[in-house]
Amino acid sequence: MQTDKDCIFCKIVAGEIPCFKLYEDDSTLSFMDINPANEGHALVIPKEHWRNVYVVPDDLFAAVAVSVKKIAQAVQSALSPDGVNVVQANGKGAAQSVEHFHVHVLPRTLGDELKLNWGLNPGDMERIKICSETIKAAL
Ligand code: AMP
Ligand code: ZN
Repeated sequence: MQTDKDCIFCKIVAGEIPCFKLYEDDSTLSFMDINPANEGHALVIPKEHWRNVYVVPDDLFAAVAVSVKKIAQAVQSALSPDGVNVVQANGKGAAQSVEHFHVHVLPRTLGDELKLNWGLNPGDMERIKICSETIKAAL
């Protein structure tokens, strides 16, 4: 499997650094974003290292899409947000900060006025953990 020893998401896949895991299957992994734009912000990645949407193989893109749907359904069911955005960034101009293809599952609240460049602000790890358990229970 293609991996990058300097990539933070490859390190999560390898179990070298921890994550609040929501779901995994043979080719994809989902975990909580530790700098959440909103409560319940989750990520879905292919386990294999591909930098962006331009290069990720079609079968992995499809597998990620299937996992994104599962996570979005669980987030909606567990947290009942007013809405959920599915967002994906490619390149610096799109504010991609981790060069391992990933999709954001982003709960929204009416009036939160969230912008695409939401910034990276560390969340409260205890709240993220509790949130991850709530979402997992809905999977
Ligand atoms: P992007 O900026 O679209 O590339 O998204 C990368 C996301 O990965 C950001 O929202 C970060 O908060 C998130 N992130 C970075 N490192 C970690 C980590 N160790 N665990 C969970 N999320 C992370
Ligand atoms: Zn990687």
